[in-house]
Amino acid sequence: MSEGSLDPTAERHPRSRRLVVVKIGSSSVTDKHGVDQVAIDKLCTEVAALMADGSEVVVVTSGAIATGLPAMGMAADGSQSAEVLRAASAVGQTSLMRAFESALAQQELLAGQVLLAPTDFMLRRRYLKSRGTIRALLDLGVVPVINENDAIADDEIRFGDNDRLAALVAHLVEADLLLLLTDTEGLFTADPRTDASASLIEEITEIDHRLEEVAGGARSAQSRGGMASKLAAAKIATWSGVETVIASATRVDVVRAAGRGDSGIGSRFVARDQRLGARKLWIAFALPASGTIEVDRGARRALEHNNRSLLPAGIVSVRGAFTRDDAVEIVDPDGVVFAKGQVRWSSGDLDAHAGRQTTELPVGLSDEVVHRDDLILLPT
Ligand code: GLU
Repeated sequence: MSEGSLDPTAERHPRSRRLVVVKIGSSSVTDKHGVDQVAIDKLCTEVAALMADGSEVVVVTSGAIATGLPAMGMAADGSQSAEVLRAASAVGQTSLMRAFESALAQQELLAGQVLLAPTDFMLRRRYLKSRGTIRALLDLGVVPVINENDAIADDEIRFGDNDRLAALVAHLVEADLLLLLTDTEGLFTADPRTDASASLIEEITEIDHRLEEVAGGARSAQSRGGMASKLAAAKIATWSGVETVIASATRVDVVRAAGRGDSGIGSRFVARDQRLGARKLWIAFALPASGTIEVDRGARRALEHNNRSLLPAGIVSVRGAFTRDDAVEIVDPDGVVFAKGQVRWSSGDLDAHAGRQTTELPVGLSDEVVHRDDLILLPT
């Protein structure tokens, strides 16, 4: 994919209808016995109402594992192996889809299941295929109902939580809005269950460290990722130019109200003007960093202001063990993380050659340690 730093050329496709991605978590669509049909009926009634108002809607739902475990007589207590959980998802996903199919049928709508894996966002061919299929479903008036392909999920490389998946889907389909429905009203200044002075944060323009700390402390009761993962998803979405709202799944008419942009619904995150391309988005927010590269001030300037690749000459030190294609954080001499990138060198090569000029490198070693196409500048 050709992506610039914050790629201004990644223009949105002109579209006449508003596109909303609605994500709902396991705790909102299941109870301890499995699928909560009443909750899914509520959601689908509201999805239909939003569509009747003229929007297109994509649903991202969790709940496959939470549905499959009780069906097999097991409790969702975290005691099962990854293999059993994958098996549970295979059992639960069919019931989950049946519930969506029946709820949407009451609204005279069809559901189309799409199960996605991280590689579908990494490999251009699959990225385009996934986008094409979802687009085709929307054009046909079908509601795409998406989940992670948990049955074949590789523990090393998976979304892990559907908040992140939903944000990447919002990017994929160039949504106007990502609506994250959960079991709280939104993001609070402190944990509302333990702090009576906690208040709802209604509008967020920049997701900074302070906010991340607030969210880290304010985990919601049951959802897998909690508020921290919602905030991470909001970051991905807003960096993709997609406005994001976190709101309560049980609020009456929440999908239609948030979907058409009513104020006073949950916490609203304003979208950034520029849209990060898919591959860079993946490197910045999906690939965990395997190490840290410290660079000198000159290198930081060259990366930030001159749109350069990172060369060995500007590297001061390296922490962690990584191989080619791993992600690393890039820090300045003050320890400020100002960029993230995918490396072309292993940490071993860097230990041997960091600080050298390009002409001093052994034959066969590319001079870019991180190519500028694989580098994302982060807000500091
Ligand atoms: N994909 C998982 C499921 O459907 C849930 C992931 C999450 O909790 O966000 O069970």
